[in-house]
Formats: sequence, C-alpha cells, structure tokens
Amino acid sequence: MIRLAVISGKGGTGKTMITAALAQLLPKSLVLVDCDVDAANLEILLDPKLIRTEPFMGMKSAVIDPTLCVQCGECKEHCRFAAVERDVDTYQVSPLRCEGCAVCAYVCPVTAISMQPRQTGEIKYSETERGHLVHARLVPGAGNSGLLVHAVKKMALEHDRDRDYFLIDGPPGTGCPLISTISGVDVVLIVTEPSVSGLHDLKRVVAVCRQFRPRILVAVNRFDLEQSLTETIQLWCREENILVIGKIPFDPAVIESVRNGVPVTQAGTFPAAQAIQILESNLEQELRHYRDQRE
Ligand code: SF4
Ligand code: SF4
Repeated sequence: MIRLAVISGKGGTGKTMITAALAQLLPKSLVLVDCDVDAANLEILLDPKLIRTEPFMGMKSAVIDPTLCVQCGECKEHCRFAAVERDVDTYQVSPLRCEGCAVCAYVCPVTAISMQPRQTGEIKYSETERGHLVHARLVPGAGNSGLLVHAVKKMALEHDRDRDYFLIDGPPGTGCPLISTISGVDVVLIVTEPSVSGLHDLKRVVAVCRQFRPRILVAVNRFDLEQSLTETIQLWCREENILVIGKIPFDPAVIESVRNGVPVTQAGTFPAAQAIQILESNLEQELRHYRDQRE
C-alpha cells in the first residue's frame, strides 16, 4: 500500500476537487480518507452510501454534580476559560468553552466535579464506486481535530489495509490536523495557487512536511491567472528539488462540476479535466518510481 495525501498550505486551492478526480482516475484498488475533518466535503463529490457510523469521543470535560455542589464559586473563580457559569443558584459548565484542564475538579472542596468523556464527533464508513471512504463530522466548535484525523486513518487501515492506495484528502494549513494527516504518509501532493499568500503557505507546508520525510510533489491550480507567480513557484520548487507534476488552468467547468457534485474529470473533457489527467499520469509514474525504490 502507498499512502498518498493531497494537502495545501491554505484553503480554497482546489485540493478536494483534485482528490476527487484522482479517486476516479487512479488505477488499482484504493481506500479514500477525508482528513479535512473541520470541513469534510469529499463526500459531496463522491456520493457515498453510508455503511455505518461510530461516535468519536474527544477530550474529557468537567461536569458538576448539583447534589454535591455547595456553591462556593471556587470553580468559576479558577477557570481560565470562563467555562463555569452561575445560573441563579446553580453552577454549570459550558461544554463548548471547557478545555478539559481539570483545574475546577482540583479546587472543588467537596469533589462535586468529575471529568467525563464527551462525544465531539462521529466517524463514517461509506461505500463509493472506487472503494470505501472513511470520513468524519466534528461537532461545531469542538477541538481535537488532530485526534479525530488519527481515528479516521486508523479505521481506514483496520478495514482496508489490503488496498493498493490509501488516498487522503488532507486539511489546509500547517496545524495539528495536518501533522496528524501526514504522519506515516509516503507521498504528499501539495496543491498551491499563484498568489503571494499561496507561495508563502507553500513554503510553510513544505517545511512541516520535511520533518516527516515523505516524497513531496506540487501541483499549481489556476496557474494561468498569474503566470509570473507560477514561474516563481516553479523556480522555487526547482531550487528545493521538488517536482511540479501538474499545472491546471482556470476553468469555469470546475465550478460547474462542483456545483453539480461530480468530479471534474467525470463532467467532460474540459481544459482543467485534461490537465488533471496529465497530472494523474505524472503522479502514477512517480508512485511507480517510489514503489520500485521501496522494494
Ligand atoms: S476543566 Fe478547566 S476549562 Fe473546563 S470548566 Fe474546569 S477549569 Fe474550566
Ligand atoms: S467548586 Fe465545587 S462546590 Fe464550589 S461551586 Fe464549584 S462545583 Fe460547587
């Protein structure tokens, strides 16, 4: 199995659109994993059939037992996240604000506070035309997205370890969910765009990826919107010994295909779809090369 993650330094670069197209084009068997758990939307383009869901228990949060509470106010006084609220003559913890530090439980003089597990999301196991999709839903405002990414990857490995490819739609940015996503991954494909912030974020995400030593590849989406910046990105990648395996032009057909909920490569032979087919062909070559080197 080769583990491949499609990631980006910033949101809105077309990462999920490219992942959905690769899911359609890559040969052999695969399992799909949506690690963008804060805004999972690969399912919109792949129309999966849900097989089952499992609860995701995030960090523990404080719960006050009103029958034990003597209303001293110590918990409210010491909570640095303003998570303890007083409502007339009772004290309550707001689960959305609670960071699970347990300071309130430590200072409560009558042991009225316990730390209890809280469901902060669910993991979904679904069927698509190209194989199983493991995706998730995080409760709005809940933390632990890095932990949820780990849980999503674990479920995919437990059930679909025999697949040829483990194809991940990764989260944008360089935070905890990205680190959890690229941990143990063989190849990352970074999708960027020709803008000053696009180049800046590309440099940041490459710096993070290098800590994990995957093979790094780059694709430039909407490359024709700012040709000089595309050239700057290509030059920088060459200096950094990073291969640019695809350049996708701006194409209104992409917007239309997303609106219709289908991968762009399924929508027709538009310029963007043709460019992604070339990208996929280059990617296959790189994956073959990676596999040969590993064996
Ligand atoms: S666990 Fe920490 S954050 Fe949560 S209510 Fe107690 S003191 Fe506040
Ligand atoms: S510290 Fe304990 S006893 Fe005091 S208000 Fe909070 S829960 Fe009640």
